[in-house]
Amino acid sequence: MTSTITGGCLCGAIRYTISAPVSGLRACHCTHCQKTSGTGSSVNAVILGKDFAITQGTPKRYAAKADSGRTLLRFFCGDCGSPVYSQREASPERLVVRAGSIDDSSAMKIVANIWTKSARPWSHIDPGTEQLPGNPA
Ligand SMILES: [Zn+2]
Ligand SMILES: [Zn+2]
Repeated sequence: MTSTITGGCLCGAIRYTISAPVSGLRACHCTHCQKTSGTGSSVNAVILGKDFAITQGTPKRYAAKADSGRTLLRFFCGDCGSPVYSQREASPERLVVRAGSIDDSSAMKIVANIWTKSARPWSHIDPGTEQLPGNPA
């Protein structure tokens, strides 16, 4: 049974598919995710680039030196501004897709929180999840 996950930005200009199952999500509380999301964290599906395909539109790209010191490429819709996914410049084989852009994420749940040392005091972190002060090893 293979089911393709679909998603896209708010205005619909960017659409994509993920051709692998996703169950666990990771919340990132780094200061960059706070700025780009406009809220306390981003919640993401970490997938392999080979399982991801843009089916409509061309996302804009913003390159930023992350808290980790690495350059992170952030892809977003240039029309509506929705963040869609990000990718480390040094390891493009992995993609971090914004879970809120996935059409149906009802079977997914947050299993880990990263960069908790910069988490906002008002952000909820489920104590039952894995918590890391910075980047995963
Ligand atoms: Zn859009
Ligand atoms: Zn982050």
